[in-house]
Amino acid sequence: MSERSERLDTSVVIADQVRMGFGDVEVLRGVDLEVDAGEVACIVGPSGSGKSTFLRCINGLETVEQGSLRVLDQQVGFELGNGKYHPWSAKRFATFRTDIGMVFQRFNLFAHQSVIENVMCAQVQVAGRSKKVAHDEAVAQLERVGLSEHAHKKPHQLSGGQQQRVAIARALAMHPKVMLFDEPTSALDPELVDEVLVVMKALAEDGMTMVVVTHEIGFAREVGDTLSMFADGVIIEHGRARDVLDDPQHERTRNFLASVR
Ligand code: ADP
Ligand code: MG
Repeated sequence: MSERSERLDTSVVIADQVRMGFGDVEVLRGVDLEVDAGEVACIVGPSGSGKSTFLRCINGLETVEQGSLRVLDQQVGFELGNGKYHPWSAKRFATFRTDIGMVFQRFNLFAHQSVIENVMCAQVQVAGRSKKVAHDEAVAQLERVGLSEHAHKKPHQLSGGQQQRVAIARALAMHPKVMLFDEPTSALDPELVDEVLVVMKALAEDGMTMVVVTHEIGFAREVGDTLSMFADGVIIEHGRARDVLDDPQHERTRNFLASVR
């Protein structure tokens, strides 16, 4: 038994037969996944297979309809009271989400704000920090992603790769306990992909727990601990990232990896 599998109490995400859909369309059809503290869990799979929906369930943007989803020791969206489960209040959701950083394919920076204002905004408005504290934190996080000199520029003055690094700094400034990445490099020109992956790799080396939807197979191999292959709303193959990449067991995994390599 590996050291990792003995540390069951350190699981950050435990999905057990997670199901959800939109109307008649079943999108997640029984997803099982466990992510331990400090682990980098990579997710691959064809478009429409439910990867983004699953990430949205993890941070409570979508509601799981069946099965169990525990994140940071909480049943996402529900709490037990008087022997019954009750939905969380909006405030409880907001508190929960401050522990979960999310980075999207599109960076969604505020165009009219400077880089440093973008990194300060949620700290002040959501976490209730003072401007001084938020500013110092933003300076530190911009340095971490290598953008100190660009703090006072507007997003449009930066490349796509730089903008995505700002989005990562903005998420990190909230001191999340887990980071979710949804195809963070898919919208970037090829020459800008590496600078974002370098930042993500450093984050992994700092011990951050990360769930990363990506088709960057080199990143998954080098940085990923586990790799899960989504297809039609379930994980059809899961294992150590290197094992799955070197010797995929499922034909759909083999075909998919061949198409993105
Ligand atoms: P992936 O990220 O793997 O490409 P998604 O999770 O985005 O897949 O989508 C999975 C399926 O759910 C798709 O068929 C998509 O059309 C559907 N879907 C996603 N979001 C919604 C929504 N808000 N309303 C209806 N259908 C949705
Ligand atoms: Mg997606």
